Amino acid sequence: MNKIAIGIDIGGTNTAFGIVDQNGNIIFQNSIPTQERENIEDYISDISNELKIGLSSIGDDFELIGIGVGAPNGNYYTGCIEQAANLRWKGRIELSKLLKQHFKVPVIITNDANAAAIGEMIYGGAKNMKDFIVITLGTGLGSGIVINGNLLYGSDGFAGELGHIIVEPRGRKCNCGRMGCLETYVSATGLVRTVYELLASEVKPSKLRDIPFTKLTSKDVAIAAQNGDEIALETFRVTGEKLGQAIADISAITSPEAIFLFGGLANAGKLLIDYVEYYKEEYMLSIFKNKIKLLPSELSEDAALLGASALIWSEQEK
Ligand SMILES: [Zn+2]
Repeated sequence: MNKIAIGIDIGGTNTAFGIVDQNGNIIFQNSIPTQERENIEDYISDISNELKIGLSSIGDDFELIGIGVGAPNGNYYTGCIEQAANLRWKGRIELSKLLKQHFKVPVIITNDANAAAIGEMIYGGAKNMKDFIVITLGTGLGSGIVINGNLLYGSDGFAGELGHIIVEPRGRKCNCGRMGCLETYVSATGLVRTVYELLASEVKPSKLRDIPFTKLTSKDVAIAAQNGDEIALETFRVTGEKLGQAIADISAITSPEAIFLFGGLANAGKLLIDYVEYYKEEYMLSIFKNKIKLLPSELSEDAALLGASALIWSEQEK
């Protein structure tokens, strides 16, 4: 009988879920809006009902061995989502317990960046690596740190928050309530904040001056940079320097074989990557210089879903 796992990726807007085999083939997948149901029980029932339809459609020759979930503030140790700022259900959500009411299999939960790191290890570019870091660059900045083949969860399950190391004392206000966190500079929103800071302090002409703050996207900045816009180019340099410096710092602590960049901003182009590579080496402690690879993620846009299902396969290998 073929083994299969369920992967669930809970995002702020949509929840994607699917049935995945051991080779990373998605046999069934679907999604629902995350925030429509007032009651968490109803939301879990909706997902479970869709998955049961999926399971019955693929026949009897499969054995479901577990459910992996990537969720904001998902805690591996407790099986709960705890105080996720961008979800409507507040406090502590007992996600693992709720899912087990529908499926009598083990449920493993972690945050989305950790799930992406496991996905990279099982299906992506980190297949033969034991020490690496995945940095997800989207609206915010997430990271999954793998040390000696294991995800770093820390004492409470929340380790690896590279997005919230302080890179600028009393710098930009962050969603976490503090100031100067890395993700306020290195993320799609951080990039836009940098553009506006530069537009305010510089007198150079720039096409970006004509785009209102709420409409400006990282893609606009990438296009302007490709056309030689000096403000856009400087924005990528500033962003690349901040990330390169943070990578040098985390490398001094964990000595990874490689750093993988994943997500919308990582796709913004070679420009950002080139600056990150340059400043990574510029700031790197000499014993680590020219050793640590900076690589694009090899996972597709289904990475979060695959990563969530990979949580189950990685537990099987232990
Ligand atoms: Zn923060």
